[in-house]
Amino acid sequence: MIFAHDTEHALAVVVDLINTGAATSGAEELGGLPGLHAFVARNTFSDIGDLTDSDLARVLDLRERFHAVFHAGDVPAAVQRVNEIVGEVRATPHLTDHDGYDWHVHFFAPGAPLGEHLAADCGMALAYVIASGELDRLRTCEAPDCSRVLVDLSRNRCRRYCDSRTCGNRMHVAAYRARRRAL
Ligand SMILES: [Zn+2]
Ligand SMILES: [Zn+2]
Repeated sequence: MIFAHDTEHALAVVVDLINTGAATSGAEELGGLPGLHAFVARNTFSDIGDLTDSDLARVLDLRERFHAVFHAGDVPAAVQRVNEIVGEVRATPHLTDHDGYDWHVHFFAPGAPLGEHLAADCGMALAYVIASGELDRLRTCEAPDCSRVLVDLSRNRCRRYCDSRTCGNRMHVAAYRARRRAL
């Protein structure tokens, strides 16, 4: 494991969130509250109250700002963007073992709205990535017509494609054909 378990979990949430706006079909998954409910359900957030249009607006704003960290280009720019995100949070750090998980730290207050939850825990996960000197693990898929993001958690930093069903496979096939042609 490259980062602590809950950091890797929060990074997976960041990737899922950013990719809701980068579907290869061009479809916007967070076009309304049903899409936001689906996002919350598949990421098993606990203790999230009723979701409203203001939650959706906050999440869409955060999605753009998380994405900007992936595109920052260098450490100082990424630091500035992460500090802006986490600096707005009213953090209430505490240990919790909710829902059968082992003890881990939450930075958001119990019962905080979804946007606060994401800004705190996902923002801190991105802060850890930078503080560990691992910013280059935040990547954009290298498939030519894909704009999805990924976090490369492989030992040897070799991951180039997102985990959409198409990208990895498609590129393997292309590489195979290219090798065949070269024979
Ligand atoms: Zn938790
Ligand atoms: Zn891709």
